[in-house]
Amino acid sequence: MSTLRFNALKETLNRKPVEIEEKGRRSELFGNNVFNEHAMLQHLTKDAYKSVMNAIEFGTKIDRKIADHISTGMKEWAIGKGATHYTHWFQPLTGATAEKHDAFFETIGNGRAMEKFGGGQLVQQEPDASSFPNGGIRNTFEARGYTAWDPTSPAFIYGTTLCIPTIFVAYTGEALDNKAPLLRALHAVDTAATAVCKYFDKNVTKVNASLGWEQEYFLIDSALASARPDITLTGRTLLGHSPAKGQQLDDHYFGSIPNRVMSYMRDLEQECMLLGIPVKTRHNEVAPNQFELAPIFEEANLAVDHNSLLMDVMEKIAQRHQFKVLFHEKPFAGINGSGKHNNWSLATNTGVNLLSPGKTPMKNLQFLTFFVNTIKAVHDNEELIRAAIASASNDHRLGANEAPPAIISVFIGSQLSAVLDELENVTKGKLSPQEKTDLKLNIVGKIPEILLDNTDRNRTSPFAFTGNKFELRAVGSWSNCAGPMTVLNTIIAKQLKDFKVEVDKLVAEKDLKKDEAVFNILREYIKDSKKIRFEGNGYGEAWEKEAKKRGLSNNKTTPEALKAQISQKAFDLYEEMDVMSKIEVEARHEIELEEYILRIQIEGRVLGDIARNHVIPTAIRYQNTLIENVSGLKEIFGNDFKKLAAEQIDLIEKISAHIAGINSKVNAMTDERKKANKLEGQKAAEAYCNKVKPYFEEIRYHSDKLELLVDDEIWPLVKYRELLFTR
Ligand code: ADP
Ligand code: MG
Repeated sequence: MSTLRFNALKETLNRKPVEIEEKGRRSELFGNNVFNEHAMLQHLTKDAYKSVMNAIEFGTKIDRKIADHISTGMKEWAIGKGATHYTHWFQPLTGATAEKHDAFFETIGNGRAMEKFGGGQLVQQEPDASSFPNGGIRNTFEARGYTAWDPTSPAFIYGTTLCIPTIFVAYTGEALDNKAPLLRALHAVDTAATAVCKYFDKNVTKVNASLGWEQEYFLIDSALASARPDITLTGRTLLGHSPAKGQQLDDHYFGSIPNRVMSYMRDLEQECMLLGIPVKTRHNEVAPNQFELAPIFEEANLAVDHNSLLMDVMEKIAQRHQFKVLFHEKPFAGINGSGKHNNWSLATNTGVNLLSPGKTPMKNLQFLTFFVNTIKAVHDNEELIRAAIASASNDHRLGANEAPPAIISVFIGSQLSAVLDELENVTKGKLSPQEKTDLKLNIVGKIPEILLDNTDRNRTSPFAFTGNKFELRAVGSWSNCAGPMTVLNTIIAKQLKDFKVEVDKLVAEKDLKKDEAVFNILREYIKDSKKIRFEGNGYGEAWEKEAKKRGLSNNKTTPEALKAQISQKAFDLYEEMDVMSKIEVEARHEIELEEYILRIQIEGRVLGDIARNHVIPTAIRYQNTLIENVSGLKEIFGNDFKKLAAEQIDLIEKISAHIAGINSKVNAMTDERKKANKLEGQKAAEAYCNKVKPYFEEIRYHSDKLELLVDDEIWPLVKYRELLFTR
């Protein structure tokens, strides 16, 4: 009997839901462990408080002396809540989060000690970060990196540690993390959008990008997961035959949540409340053991931090419940994968959602302006968006047989499409009073009503308008939202900046009124960006053909997709918007290629090991049983044995063929891996993608066949049905 597998199953079947005590009302728990406005008012001097608020709102620098006051207040607050350590919390380019803990405790001579935390320690730290990826930046410049406090994201206590959100930059100024470019992109979009808003409302002085992510994940019992080396080492199953029952019955989606999972979710949600992560919804997803969690949307930087923190917390709490969380985009073949929808919008400091139509024609023209500019930005930069969501694991969703596809398109619904179609016919140049009235009353004016009964939904579109926000659906469940949010906000910033230049030019040179100029420019944008709009079924060959005809990219693999990052157009864009220098862009590109190579390399090794060390020996053992049986039959029945042993002999032959298949394919894969290892960068990534990876399916094919042939009692790997249906 396969001991590990059956022990794991036994352990799993005996589990009970962990008892969770309710710590109090959610609303009372919310933000308890966050150094938020409320806590600051209690623990900071007036000046210190004001200085942090100004930094948040206007990006003003915090004076060093004031920083000392802030750190003291923060320390007192944190110690009062049981914190003993502090850390600069940051998001290196590995996609995870990093922290190094220091105690507040310091000795002060005479055998005495005190708790200390100065402004200097709050504002800047130098982590020993030599092993974080930097894409050659730090080697090139022989510069060290440091972390710097980001006051726009509040400090929080996790466990007994005060965590201070920071950016991570080289001493020469280049960003070494995900947050620094995001903050720059958010600043760019603020500047550009505020300028455009002034056409419609002079009172607007700031525009914030908002983000509401939806996190999908799988929960697998930890004993079962540990009995699978592939899950442990790569986050997904590399082998495994589909269960007789999969997700065909759709009986999991929105069904009742299993008890153990419910207990996990309650525990997690309470922790999120304390950390100020405003989680709101939870439900089962399409696949068995797949779930989703979503918060109320927040300012984008905070939302990105909260998502990173959440993923961390999810893993930690899972341990308490004997679960392993799988964030991989495709942990199981033949079963729906996971994504992380990024709901995005822009909101003014006057409280207006710029992607939500308003009550007056003017407000609706503002809505249309931001709506059309967004579409145009996506149209002009679709390859950059595709690059931003590319990863080895997300390749299993994008471009594979699953929505959304690798082709970026925008879905807006038939009614808004009709509005844009009408606007294409706006007269060039000056509009007659009649036309203006007509536009405002009958087209622009009707938008709110349209949206009220807008039930158009399209689950296959990678970028869909959903009533008052756009939803980027192609982001991977495992990825950090910072990447896609940096790209999206940068391209919108650039687009709005160009838009303003063009409108101003028409007003100045052609003597058009502001609204006439806006209509004129929007008309051209609508025409120019038509090919990115697609309302149909987003996957399948028909759309691929159509997209090709339209000239849309269809970059199916990460090595293909990432190329767009280092195009001249991308360099220029990032440079112009002050988001990243060429060096920073190149460094990131290099890191992402490297990450891709490493992931496929590890998968290849793990697959080879499992196939050789688990699958083949098991197949041989079973084959030996069959051989024993056949020779036994021969002994008893003499020459008649052939008739009686026909099935067994057939099985023996089949097993041999599959063993040979695995062996030769693993050898061939290893050879390709060796060749790929001699290459570098793009070439290496392509070799891993096109030469090494194709063997995964072939090896898996033979192994999965063997799984069906071999006696269940001795099969060593926990099976799909056990991973997915044991509760
Ligand atoms: P849906 O009908 O698409 O489920 P919801 O209103 O439930 O719409 O929102 C889904 C997600 O979108 C939630 O995570 C929510 O926080 C987020 N969201 C809603 N409005 C905005 C907005 N203005 N900006 C960013 N995200 C938003
Ligand atoms: Mg959604």
